[in-house]
Amino acid sequence: MEILKGAAVTAAIKEQVQELLKDFQGQPPKLAIVRVGERPDDLSYERGAVKRMEGFGLRAQSYAFPEDIGGEEFKREFAAINEDPDVAGILLLKPLPAQIPEKEIQSMINPAKDLDGISPVNMAKVFAGEADGFAPCTAEAVIEVLKAYGIPISGKRAVIVGRSLVVGRPLAMLLLKENATVTLCHTRTKNLEEECRRGEILVAAAGRARMLGGAHVGEGAVVIDVGINVDADGKLCGDVDFDAIQEKASMATPVPGGVGAVTTAVLAKHLALAAVRGRR
Ligand code: NDP
Repeated sequence: MEILKGAAVTAAIKEQVQELLKDFQGQPPKLAIVRVGERPDDLSYERGAVKRMEGFGLRAQSYAFPEDIGGEEFKREFAAINEDPDVAGILLLKPLPAQIPEKEIQSMINPAKDLDGISPVNMAKVFAGEADGFAPCTAEAVIEVLKAYGIPISGKRAVIVGRSLVVGRPLAMLLLKENATVTLCHTRTKNLEEECRRGEILVAAAGRARMLGGAHVGEGAVVIDVGINVDADGKLCGDVDFDAIQEKASMATPVPGGVGAVTTAVLAKHLALAAVRGRR
């Protein structure tokens, strides 16, 4: 089984970002990371994202607000970030606390700065297969991995486990755009093993540690593991039992070191694209 490492994909995306940024010398585009509260996961994600954006020659700034900020006050603050001409792109860390109307914020975000595709405008563009919007970075990262490794998508049977708005659903649309025949599985799917085995491309995005094993993988399938979980021993792992699929899959992404790393590279690419489009 060939291991599809994220690093090789990230390096290729970095070159694309550098090409996009060649006219931005001295003043690289800025990403605003908007955070409410101090969740340890958010803080560690934010630190990593700032560092990685800088590694791509981009700027990233954290805009942090207290957990108990009022809904109206947050809307005012968010509007100011949204309208700031120095901010080329926005990443909103979710979920937001209950007093903040998340849907309203998603509708407020300027679609041109909405790097993770949460606004209804970008969702519609992904649904319609239009290329000028922003798809959620993780969903797009899966396509980037497949393309970087030259894995054919057109005409292939793709099975996705997970139907969330961040991963499963937008990914189904992106794979469909690439002419795959797509099946979406979820908790009510009957005969999950059988459905999964039909996939020539199998994407795991369920958020359940090592839930997919050898019985879920068809002979020679390409397995893309989006899951990021912590197992009972506190170890980071994916949704796929990597050891159990070795004899069945032809290729698979590891966790860590697979799709996760590519997601931030896609975020960087979206930021560069937003900045270039903003100049036109
Ligand atoms: P959600 O919890 O929002 O969605 C999980 C989906 O998986 C749901 O559609 C659910 O079905 C389905 N599911 C859960 N358990 C099963 C099961 N036993 N059998 C079949 N289907 C199941 O998760 P996300 O989409 O936000 O994230 C999925 C995973 O991807 C997580 O591990 C997350 O950490 C990771 N992730 C990784 C990113 C990256 O950068 N690599 C970024 C974002 C997420 P139902 O709809 O019926 O409930």
